Amino acid sequence: MSSDFTLRRARLVAILKDLGYIRSSKVERAMLAVPRELFVPDDVREYAYDDRPLPIGYGQTISAPSIVAHMTELLDPRPGDRVLEIGTGSGYQAAILAEIVGYQGHVWSIERIPELAEFARRNLERTGYIDRVTVIVGDGSLGYKPEAPYDRIMVTAAAPRIPEPLVEQLKPGGRLVAPVGPLPFQVLVVVDKREDGSIEVRRDLEVVFVPLIGEYGWKNEREAILQLSNSGVII
Ligand code: SAM
Repeated sequence: MSSDFTLRRARLVAILKDLGYIRSSKVERAMLAVPRELFVPDDVREYAYDDRPLPIGYGQTISAPSIVAHMTELLDPRPGDRVLEIGTGSGYQAAILAEIVGYQGHVWSIERIPELAEFARRNLERTGYIDRVTVIVGDGSLGYKPEAPYDRIMVTAAAPRIPEPLVEQLKPGGRLVAPVGPLPFQVLVVVDKREDGSIEVRRDLEVVFVPLIGEYGWKNEREAILQLSNSGVII
């Protein structure tokens, strides 16, 4: 069974490479190394190597592999980096980041739903990434001051605007990647903090993410749902 998954993983990675979502050898190696089938609930394990988001409970999803690959390429994490992720979910993206930063680096990942933080911890434990990833329960829109500043910050939930505390907690020379904009459609935004502290913002692909709920995100689920209803888009 596991060799079957290994084969399916290799096939998907080859496709993502052909399609241009995977562009570097470090992201290719990480996508080949991390077993996505061990980050999803049993009832959807069969679909682990379909290129689509899958439900992980509590109304949340593990992102599609193509999006994980593309956002990791945009973020460009390096061995030894200190990385902050907002929205741990299943822990899969955190494991991909941990695979790249290695034992010299570290990933801090914040999740607002305690049960999902626990799910992610279990997944990271059984796949051997728990030493390189610290999962924290809290409002990630505020960042995580105790370990700031960070070389890289990735947000994996949709923010109405770029959360200011995250930009503050970025090192000079650091980079942040986040889906920003209204629901349901956002744009991936790449924020570079230059050595002099000035900011450069670039817009990338259009994407669809679940909302970032918190002080610098959507205030609560009701506000997010109302905004989605007002958008007039049926999804
Ligand atoms: N990166 C995840 C993975 O690899 O499975 C997928 C993330 S899922 C698309 C978005 C996650 O963000 C959800 O688990 C949700 O509970 C979480 N979230 C939403 N608002 C948050 C906040 N303010 N702080 C931390 N996590 C938040």
